[in-house]
Amino acid sequence: MRYLVISDIHGNLEALDAVLGAMRAQGFDHALVLGDLVGYGADPNAVVDRVRSLEPLSIIRGNHDKVASGLENGDSFNLVARSAVQWTYEMLTPENLDYLLKLPAGPIAVDDKVEICHGSPFDEDAYIFDELDALRAFETSTRPVCLFGHTHVAIAYRRLPDRLEMPAGPGDTDQVRLPINGDARYLVNVGSVGQPRDGDPRAAAGIVDTAAGTIELHRVRYAVEEAQRKIRLAGLPEVLARRLGLGR
Ligand code: ZN
Repeated sequence: MRYLVISDIHGNLEALDAVLGAMRAQGFDHALVLGDLVGYGADPNAVVDRVRSLEPLSIIRGNHDKVASGLENGDSFNLVARSAVQWTYEMLTPENLDYLLKLPAGPIAVDDKVEICHGSPFDEDAYIFDELDALRAFETSTRPVCLFGHTHVAIAYRRLPDRLEMPAGPGDTDQVRLPINGDARYLVNVGSVGQPRDGDPRAAAGIVDTAAGTIELHRVRYAVEEAQRKIRLAGLPEVLARRLGLGR
C-alpha cells in the first residue's frame, strides 16, 4: 500500500494543492491525515473540503482543529494563534465545523506496520522536539512506523536495538528515502504542508510504501505569495504571512 502522508495544513490551500498535484504524479492508494487542517491560513473551508474529497483512510484531529471547532477553548494558545483560530471558527461552515468536531483523537493504527498521531503516541498534544521525547514516544508506539506531526519540522528518528539515529532532519534539502526493514523502528514527521518551521518554506509531505518498504520525505514549491496575500486580505496577523516566506 502506498500512503500519502500529510499533516499541519493549517488552512493553506495553495500549499495543499501543490502537494496533492506533486504526490498524485508519484502515485498513492490512500491518504493519511495527521491533523491541524485549519488555523493560521486564510482558506479553512476550501482546505477541509479538499481533505474530505480525499476520503482519507485514516484521519485524526490536531490541537487547532479542537479549538477551531469549539471542542476546546484556546487558553493554551498564544495571542496570534488564538486570534487566527477565532477567525477560523467564525469562517467555518456548519458542515465543516461538524466534520472537524467529529475527528477522532490519535493515535490510530492504520495497519500492522503504520500508526499515526498528531503530537505523540502517548498524548495527542505533546511535542516530540528531541531525542529524549523520541525515546519516550518509541516506548508507547505500537507499530514499526509511527508518523507524527505538530512540530512542523520534517525529521526522522530510527531506533535500532542498540542505538537511536536521526537519518533525516532540518537541512535535508532534497527528497529523503528511508528503508523499513529488520529491527528498525521509525518515528517520522513528514513536515507541515501549510506552515513549515524547519527553515525550508516549501510545503512538506510524505509517502509511506508498505509493500516496497520505504518512507519518503518530499518538499514541494508552491505559490507562497498568494497564500500570504490572502492572509493579509483576511485581516489575519501579519506575522502569519511573513513566516510562510521564511519557513519559520
Ligand atoms: Zn500544527
